[in-house]
This record gives sequence, C-alpha cells and structure tokens, in this order.
Amino acid sequence: MSETLPTAVAGGGIVGLACALLLNRRCDWEVAVVERSVPGRSSGRAPQRALTLSPGAAEVLAECGLRHNGSAHSGRGDAGAFGEGATPLVPGGHAFSRMVVWRGDGPPAPGNSITFDAAELGVSALGCVAREEPVRRALWELASACPGIHLRSGAALESLEIKEECGVMRLEDGSEMAAELLVGADGGNSSFRQSLGIGFDSQSYGQRGLVFEAESASSGGETAWQRFAGGGTLALLPLSATRWSIVWSMPNARAERLRKLDETDLAEALNKASASVAGELVPATPIASFPLRRGAAARICGERYALVGEAVRVVHPLAGQGLNLGIGDADALARVCAGRGNAMIGDARALARFARERARYGHEMSFGIHAINAAFSGPAAPLATRGMAAADRLPPLKRQLAARAMR
Ligand SMILES: Cc1cc2nc3c(=O)[nH]c(=O)nc-3n(C[C@H](O)[C@H](O)[C@H](O)COP(=O)(O)OP(=O)(O)OC[C@H]3O[C@@H](n4cnc5c(N)ncnc54)[C@H](O)[C@@H]3O)c2cc1C
Repeated sequence: MSETLPTAVAGGGIVGLACALLLNRRCDWEVAVVERSVPGRSSGRAPQRALTLSPGAAEVLAECGLRHNGSAHSGRGDAGAFGEGATPLVPGGHAFSRMVVWRGDGPPAPGNSITFDAAELGVSALGCVAREEPVRRALWELASACPGIHLRSGAALESLEIKEECGVMRLEDGSEMAAELLVGADGGNSSFRQSLGIGFDSQSYGQRGLVFEAESASSGGETAWQRFAGGGTLALLPLSATRWSIVWSMPNARAERLRKLDETDLAEALNKASASVAGELVPATPIASFPLRRGAAARICGERYALVGEAVRVVHPLAGQGLNLGIGDADALARVCAGRGNAMIGDARALARFARERARYGHEMSFGIHAINAAFSGPAAPLATRGMAAADRLPPLKRQLAARAMR
C-alpha cells in the first residue's frame, strides 16, 4: 500500500467527479478517484440519458470549472446560473425558461395544469437539459488536468476497511488505497455502502423509465413539458429548438409493449401522449430502459467515510432531481470539510453536519417526489390535478415550489 492520501472517492460518475474537484479546490486536498469503467466517447446513435440540471447544480458544476463556451460565469443575482441571456454553462446544455405540467385528456388548459415561467420568477432560466455523457467527460478531463487529482479508471472497489488513522479501499486487482476520508459515490448499487454494512431501504415502483430522443419539425425549445397520464409520466425535455429528450415512465408491462413498437407506431403513441404540444415528434434514437425504484441509505457518514449521490438515495425521475440532489451532496460535503480544515479530516463529528443537512433535505425531496407519483398515478389523481391547477393561481406558492426545484 502506498502513502495515505487526504481523500479517495469510489465512483467517477458526475457526482464523484464533482466531489473530487470541489474537495481539491475548496480544501486544497489531494484526491484519488477509482472508477470501474473507462470513460470514452459515446457511439453515434446509442441512446443517451439526458438530465435536467437545476440552476443550483449548474452553478456548482461551473465552480468545478465547467464552461459551455468559455463565457465568463456571472454568478447568482444578475444573469443567474446560466450566464447572460440564459446561455448554459454546461457542455451541450440547452436552457429552458418555461415548464408546463398537466394531467388530463388533450393539451394543457386552465384547470388541469401549472406553468412555471422564468420571467415571472425573476430568473434567466428554470433549468438546463444536457446529455449525461458530455458533462461527465468534461468533468473527467478537468479532473485529469488537475495535479491534485489522481484518476484510476478500469479499477473497481471490492471492499473497504475503516482503521483508526485512515480508511482503506481494496480494489478488484488486489491493490489497496488508503485515505483519511473515503467517499462512496459508486451509485445506487454501491459496493462502498454494502462493504460498510449500511442498510438500503429500497422499493420498486413496478415501472420503467423509457428514454430516447425525438425530432420535431417545428421550432420550440424554450419550454419543458410534463404530462401525468396512464399511471405514468411523460417528460419532453428540450435539447435544442427541434431536438427533445423523452423520459417516459410507465408500468412495466406497458413499457415492454411500447419498446417493441416499430418507429411509426412509437411516433403515433408519442404524439398521442404528448398531445402534440411540441409539434409532431419523430423518434430519432433507440430506446433505453431503466427500472425505477426508490431507496435510502440508513446512514450517510461516519468515522472516515461519507456517501454522496445515488449511494445515498435513489428517487423517481419524474421531478428530474436525482443528479441535482447528488451534486448538492458533493457541494455540502466539500463546504463542511473546507469549514473544518485538515485537523478534522475524516472525523465523524465534523461530518455530522453534512449528515444533518443532507439527510433532512434528501428525505423531504424523496418523500415529496414519491407523494407526487402516488397522487397522480392513483385514484386521487383528479383531486391532485385540481390542487395543481389551484396552485397555478397562487404566485407565492408557485414561487416556493420553483425555488425548491431550482436549488
Ligand atoms: C430515466 C432516468 C432519468 C433521469 N433524469 C434525471 C434528470 O433529469 N435530472 C436529474 O437530476 N437526475 C435524473 N436522473 C437521476 C440521475 O441519472 C442519477 O441520480 C445520477 O446519474 C446518479 O449519479 P451518481 O454519480 O450518484 O451515480 P452514477 O451515475 O451511477 O455513477 C456511479 C459511478 O460509479 C462507478 N462504480 C460503480 N461501482 C463501482 C465500484 N465498485 N468501483 C468503482 N467504481 C464504481 C460507475 O461506473 C459509475 O461511473 C434520472 C434517472 C433515470 C433512471
């Protein structure tokens, strides 16, 4: 085993990489990142997951060094997290300024919908839609160029041991890595969490999230749409004026049927479900399918370790908040560590503040998302629709809801 580093992160997804960059920048700590896969370029037509990033998450990624086009980052308060004119600061990102959520037959209308508008809320954009892979690749490149960050790709964590002076990660190739603080960012099926014997209370939704891209002939792109229908949710997230990421969650059996449709029948089903709010859509990539579940870890930190991202909790994608929560974890962990300094590195008392902050916020969000899914997919759906439409006429409540989602 070589020297003991200040920090080592298991998992080089977006959350793990953001965490490594923030710990290095804010605390000036050396960080090792162990990532099972070898990040490479994605192949042309392969389906890619697109993510909706909140302004708060985009701002944290900008602090990590992400810039869309080299433009100066203007910060909170003036042009907002997306820069002048809502230019996204995330590679390949597309900012949107309106979001319409509705339930019912046909298109959205007063009485069945709620609309969030950036101008009304006094912000430059509500969020930004970006494909996962370019964002992750850009963070990987930033981390590789950073002298204080040591990346090990193609290496997987097998087990770990917490000792008095440090934590030790054992990798599948037999090597070991010691650090004063170990961070588990290895996703929903975290080996890190399992090695520590931390329970994960998990429950399947009996649904799958189908993800693909579609093209529309008419130009739009400033609005993100979401419709509750048929026991599921359809989200149309703009990747450009004419390109859309479709995230369609529905019961397993229906998802299986939909996946088998040919392109013409899939287009027909999509246009019917979207009520053509984004114009006539033509599917443009194969469908990727994700099983949906919710879950939460029994503990998120202790002596010499902390968990972040999906290793902490998994939420339904209907609110587009999973990654935003993970980036919030990375931000909070680096803030707490920077406040306590080198003497307290890996100390459970110092990490307890991180746990208090994230456990409460994570539970609230996770419960809220679960409640929305239950309300709109069960017998109370008409009541939930009326509540949503009533909230549309209450600007202060709308501002509160938007402020939560934009953190
Ligand atoms: C259909 C769908 C749509 C979604 N849409 C949104 C959205 O719009 N907005 C949003 O905020 N969130 C969204 N999410 C959630 C979001 O995708 C996840 O929350 C986020 O990607 C989790 O990031 P992570 O870094 O924690 O985990 P991951 O992305 O899973 O990264 C974990 C990393 O750890 C590595 N790893 C795993 N095991 C090991 C090991 N033993 N050793 C070393 N490395 C290991 C993996 O290779 C991976 O790179 C969506 C999810 C789904 C399913």
